[in-house]
Amino acid sequence: MIERLDAFMARANAAYYATHDPFADFTTAPEISQVFGELLGLWAAVTWGLLGRPRPVLLVEAGPGRGTLMADALRAVAQVAPDFHAALSLHLIETSPRLRALQAARLPGATWHDRLDTVPHAPLLLLANEFLDALPIRQFVRRADGWTERHVGPAGFVEVKNTPPPVAEGGWGEGSAGGSHRSTPPPNPLPQGEGEGQIVELCEPAHGFVADLAARCVAHPGAALFLDYGPEHSTPGDSLQAIANGRAADPLSPPGSADLTAHVDFAALAATARDAGAAVHGPIPQGPFLARLGLFQRTGRLARGQPAPRAAALVEAAQRLAEPNRMGRLFKALALCHPGCPAPPGFVA
Ligand code: SAH
Repeated sequence: MIERLDAFMARANAAYYATHDPFADFTTAPEISQVFGELLGLWAAVTWGLLGRPRPVLLVEAGPGRGTLMADALRAVAQVAPDFHAALSLHLIETSPRLRALQAARLPGATWHDRLDTVPHAPLLLLANEFLDALPIRQFVRRADGWTERHVGPAGFVEVKNTPPPVAEGGWGEGSAGGSHRSTPPPNPLPQGEGEGQIVELCEPAHGFVADLAARCVAHPGAALFLDYGPEHSTPGDSLQAIANGRAADPLSPPGSADLTAHVDFAALAATARDAGAAVHGPIPQGPFLARLGLFQRTGRLARGQPAPRAAALVEAAQRLAEPNRMGRLFKALALCHPGCPAPPGFVA
């Protein structure tokens, strides 16, 4: 049997998230510092104000993991923005029954969804950290006689002749007009020896998610904030990676034994959101984004009066999130907003 890479990746991640505590294998921003979730909660509260304080309003998180980000966000919102807290209802998009149970323990009163489709159409603020990188990708390989698509067979990758489909205007699909923020696939057939073996990736579920969300943010006052890792401009190349037991592993390890992720093509997703009519801000690096939201001020306030080792740990956690050679540059922030909404916090210098 051979299956397309995206089908393999979907199956592998469903099995992995159903059976593992992913956070034993890797650490995400909300697990590093409570300030991360607090700042994102306040981002949602301020952006709600910019949208004209619609009520009721949905606060939605995609891929909430252990529920840490949202628990920190709601605590901060309850203290600083009680009006927003009173107006919101909580919706969580999560497919893993195991993680849903962890989330339920920390976030009583939430409503769960498998997909965005079942979230009611209403004003919303959506947060998603390291969600898009888990969605299944397709990979196309440029060969001398045309494109192939990577499939997974019993002995490893198998290439099957197939041409990349067109994606939204601005993605890299054939027929896109090209431009500085796009990585258009190289023309085929290949000029002798050039670009042989080059891989381009396409994450169709991410484009579908962003297109649906952008349309919702146009139809009702709404905004969404994505944080994830990926380059600022679309770049060809194989970014599929696997983590098992805290270490890099073979992406084709038996399904369920490793967490599979790929770089998020923010520029292509931004183009998809713009095509749907949303205002797009970013992508910008996570470091300056969090710094503008007050990462270091809030950390300083928390650290004050704490025993020295605890204070040092809080500062170290903030540095890990923001320093360029750690998570501050590779991770990016991207916001989609209702077209009438001014630039949300963190995206204005
Ligand atoms: N946001 C959390 C967790 C990141 S891990 C954090 O920052 O710590 C990825 C999360 O997305 C997990 O909760 C996983 O179960 C969820 N997820 C992965 N694929 C999904 C899909 N297709 N639909 C919904 N949730 C998914």
